[in-house]
Amino acid sequence: PLSAPLIVVSNRLPFVLKRNANGKLQRSHSAGGLVTALGPVVMDCGGLWIGWPGSHDVRPFDEIPEPDIPNSGLKSQQVKPVLVRQELFDSFYNGCCNGTFWPLFHSMPDRAIFSSETWKAYQEVNEEFALKTIDALRQVRARLLKEYNNPSDDSMPVPVVWIHDYQLMLAAAMIRQVAIEENLACKLGFFLHIPFPSWDIMRLFPWDDQILEGILACDLVGFHIEDYCTNFIECCQRRMGCRVDHANSNIEYDNRTVHVRALPIGIPFNQFQQLAIKAPRVMKDERVVLGVDRLDYTKGLVQRIKAFERLLQCHPEHLGRVVLMQIAVPSRTDVKEYKALKEEIDQLVGRINGRFSTADWSPIRYIYGCISQDKLAAFYRDSAVALVTPLRDGMNLVAKEFVACQINENGVLILSPFAGAGGTMREALLVNPYEIDMVAETIHKALVMDEDERHHRMQLLRKRESSMDVDYWMASFLREMDQVECAITGPP
Ligand code: UDP
Repeated sequence: PLSAPLIVVSNRLPFVLKRNANGKLQRSHSAGGLVTALGPVVMDCGGLWIGWPGSHDVRPFDEIPEPDIPNSGLKSQQVKPVLVRQELFDSFYNGCCNGTFWPLFHSMPDRAIFSSETWKAYQEVNEEFALKTIDALRQVRARLLKEYNNPSDDSMPVPVVWIHDYQLMLAAAMIRQVAIEENLACKLGFFLHIPFPSWDIMRLFPWDDQILEGILACDLVGFHIEDYCTNFIECCQRRMGCRVDHANSNIEYDNRTVHVRALPIGIPFNQFQQLAIKAPRVMKDERVVLGVDRLDYTKGLVQRIKAFERLLQCHPEHLGRVVLMQIAVPSRTDVKEYKALKEEIDQLVGRINGRFSTADWSPIRYIYGCISQDKLAAFYRDSAVALVTPLRDGMNLVAKEFVACQINENGVLILSPFAGAGGTMREALLVNPYEIDMVAETIHKALVMDEDERHHRMQLLRKRESSMDVDYWMASFLREMDQVECAITGPP
């Protein structure tokens, strides 16, 4: 949908760069909806991608390898790796991003660590990303000047910079400042993939004004749902004294208009559906209640496992017939909180299996590890129930992937209203994950639901997710961007 060059800025590049045995850098594939959707667009418009290469193997003068198959990925000149020394990166990433912003933005301030040291690292790393983005803008500008002989040609497209997520909330401020100084015409957009918290949570962060300033340096700011937009707008009003045009969801700041939009992300629906069509059977003849999560305290794993125990206790008819299959992907394993959570879950699963297991049946099958996408698609397809009960979640893609893989429309989705997905996937069974009795009753309800109702709900869910997929989300953001006016005046 965009003819203008697109510069994507995200914490990670769309692939990992690692040195092989011969000392040569190699690309290794990374999956994920964002990469699938944005990769081809950046390729086609001759844009660039800025991000950390996923390892500390890369050195400043290393040549970036071309994709293994020509035209199957970004060309090397379309990639700008951000290189940061390991100690600084750890302080930025484990310290500030995951030790402070992750819990704070998920409204769990007791878990957040406020440290001026990691905050300084965050500022420094954001500056590195900003510098690379400015390099990219200069490069794009030079190319456009070559293509359009007249620098004041009105038809010359304005490059779009699209910054992603909570790791990069300050970068836009510096990019805008330098772009103005150097007359680098561009539009700046930001999308937050996690929740934006309410003002009384945000204000706990000692440098909240700098975060807000960083985001307000953009022309377009996107969140998953209206609630997050409302929270952001209120923070800007109360902390920054911004004027707000509520009717149009615009903020006036620094003599500019900042457009705030709710744009719920989708998944590559067809891709998952195809995987589900092809995947072989992986499960036995038993009814599976499925959980798929990173092992993270926001996912409500402890409450969920306890709810399953409650189900077995209150509805013994399910003993021997139903299993909870919980896949927990190791995550942030060098952070203390995550180690403690793993211990707690290990013990809980052990206790419940000890309590209910018989010689030929155990209630919980617990996988601590990562599952390949085609196997995952088979689990999604063949499970009776998906239990998606985070305590708080920006969107939650697992709920959407389950629906995409439900080609037989037999399964039931149980969903937390505290996930972004809970706002749109109305035909799911919504339940408060903190109410363990209610969760147990809801699992029971899902297990005994008649076929017609299951089909009906799943059909509606599938219809919505197949039309509002990740390509639709991306096109919506870029369309909004297209309508935004460029506030940086072009060439001198
Ligand atoms: N996932 C995966 N392998 C696994 C388990 C999960 O690739 O073994 C993927 C899953 O397909 C989904 C993502 O991890 O795309 C989780 O995204 P979600 O939005 O649900 O949660 P997040 O981890 O981003 O908080």
